[in-house]
Amino acid sequence: MIIILFGPPGAGKGTQADNLVKKFGLVQLSTGDMLRAAIEKGTKLGIEAKAVMDNGELVSDHIIIGMIKERLKEKSEGNGFIFDGFPRNIEQAKALDILLENLNRKIDSVIEISVNDEILIDRIKNRAKEMKDARSDDNADVLQKRLKVYHKNTEKIIPHYKKKGKLVTVDGMKSIDEVRHEIEENLKLNI
Ligand code: ADP
Repeated sequence: MIIILFGPPGAGKGTQADNLVKKFGLVQLSTGDMLRAAIEKGTKLGIEAKAVMDNGELVSDHIIIGMIKERLKEKSEGNGFIFDGFPRNIEQAKALDILLENLNRKIDSVIEISVNDEILIDRIKNRAKEMKDARSDDNADVLQKRLKVYHKNTEKIIPHYKKKGKLVTVDGMKSIDEVRHEIEENLKLNI
């Protein structure tokens, strides 16, 4: 099973991805986590990426697609993959289509966790308070910038997957449990 989980910053992707990993035995491929691991290690890629991430911008497609390509080669895949935070623009979505085609694999479901901007901004402010110093890209200003980048770039992948009949939209303003349930019910139809 191959799933893409996407939504704006603060939509609860991480929480839902963790649950899907446990429940369906999927391997999570989070580009955000991969980038943070590179920063931690102090690699050249990590140093370059940090400046971009701290500014709320997207890291270059070349780097991101290269990381995903490597990971798809090396990772044992359990019952499949869950992409979290990727693709984040139409170029990445098209590159993923080609990568999967070469592996003879298909995306089963693209789950959009939808949340209104006003609610996101409240969540973003609370998260920024809680995360104080934990993540340098989690202060309120950068998060708002990331929300803008989401509307400008990431949302553009919606029609791409709608056309393929793969898009499922869940209401991310419901409780964590309700969102979890809605996602699971949709995925069971695909197993
Ligand atoms: P979230 O908190 O929304 O889950 P992530 O951890 O996925 O955020 O991403 C944090 C930052 O890492 C992004 O703001 C961006 O700078 C960079 N990043 C992560 N994934 C990608 C991607 N697929 N393309 C470009 N940049 C990315």
